[in-house]
Amino acid sequence: MQRRIMLIAVFAAVLAVLMSTSFVRGQTAATATPQTPTGAIATTSTGEHFDPAAATNAYLAKVPPDKKAKSDAYFEGGYWLILWDFLASSIVFLLLLVTGLSARMRDLAERITRFKPIHTFLYWVQFLVLTSLLTFPLAVYEGFIREHKYGLATQTFGPWMGDQLKGLGLGVVFGGLLLMALYGIVRRLPRTWWIWGAITSLVFAAFAFLISPVFIAPLFNKYTRLEDPAIRDPILSMARANGISAKDVFVQDASRQSTRVSAFVTGFLNTERIVLNDNLLKRCSVAEIEAVMGHEMGHYIMHHAYKDLLFIGIVVVVGFAFLRKGSEWALGRWGDKWRAHAAGDLAALPLFALLISSYFFVLTPIDNTYSRVEEYEADIFGLNAARQPEAEAEVDLKLGDYRKLDPGPIEEFLFYDHPGGRTRIYAAMRWKAEHLHELGNRE
Ligand SMILES: [Zn+2]
Repeated sequence: MQRRIMLIAVFAAVLAVLMSTSFVRGQTAATATPQTPTGAIATTSTGEHFDPAAATNAYLAKVPPDKKAKSDAYFEGGYWLILWDFLASSIVFLLLLVTGLSARMRDLAERITRFKPIHTFLYWVQFLVLTSLLTFPLAVYEGFIREHKYGLATQTFGPWMGDQLKGLGLGVVFGGLLLMALYGIVRRLPRTWWIWGAITSLVFAAFAFLISPVFIAPLFNKYTRLEDPAIRDPILSMARANGISAKDVFVQDASRQSTRVSAFVTGFLNTERIVLNDNLLKRCSVAEIEAVMGHEMGHYIMHHAYKDLLFIGIVVVVGFAFLRKGSEWALGRWGDKWRAHAAGDLAALPLFALLISSYFFVLTPIDNTYSRVEEYEADIFGLNAARQPEAEAEVDLKLGDYRKLDPGPIEEFLFYDHPGGRTRIYAAMRWKAEHLHELGNRE
């Protein structure tokens, strides 16, 4: 308890320091090189006085100050939301335990049937619906009101709510199945459940990852094959050149939900596919789309999906070890009060939820850093594959709609799951500086 409060206090203090403009400006000023006049980017053909730092500053200076202020505010607000989400869910989980509501939900499930796996499922439905309802106001603010306020959302409330209910339905089914398996393990293997639980969860995660592009993602968006040869053919040519035998590129109708420009690689084994969203298609030039697709192919070629699974594997095993220790300690202390007597007791589920959310909360910077490093690798791969540094820089600016372009280094370390705009544009300009001769010849 003390430790968690301390962690929250530390997190809040770090946030407060980061948010104080003097610190953020100080960081930026320290890393920034002298500004060049707006738009003064050396052309490739002259080749002699190309300074990547100055070119980076010139790109960043293209964003109007009011637009920059707005996207900075949006992204910085997201830092606080990590904290509010964590606090709100923690309070809800604690309330379920302290009020005895969790024990009553277990009793109700046990009265309905004698079949133990069904107890788990019935408890889970009550738990998920109740916690979703209690955190609903925050979810509406975060996912709907705030997104509209910053002009990032395109959905009216009805369709948004529809997506939320679909998510809840998936949570009932997949969460229910996983928990039935996990509680079976905890009850049969009281000493070693944490290791078998970790393995089961991993297999489950891999399975969800595998079927997601084919069975889950289509519940929320339409995926169509990219037909326009002017865009598709250069992408497939780049794919062939890099040893990817893809015959199709998929387009996601992301404009159904948002205005964000995005692309991604999804699935693994046979369900792996490269997807670009329709906002990207509408707002970007062919060169910019090539730059993005080069990045996505980087994820594919460097087997990031498999490395992610390995990373998740470590996180899950350590997480389960923590769950075992944490639950033993807490149940020994407060189990009688909560009428939750052992790990296998369903009434203790809010405790596990609390431990898991604390674990992931503390892990946020590590998780972000793992992802950011892979994204940077994909950026470098994309530059080499697409050879479009200016287009890459332009796309990086477009991503500035929803991601603060010029964070301080500590801020980037803690909160960025992709490199910040300055880092990405600088990488592109550095690549350009080292290829000026070739780019000049090409022209
Ligand atoms: Zn990426």
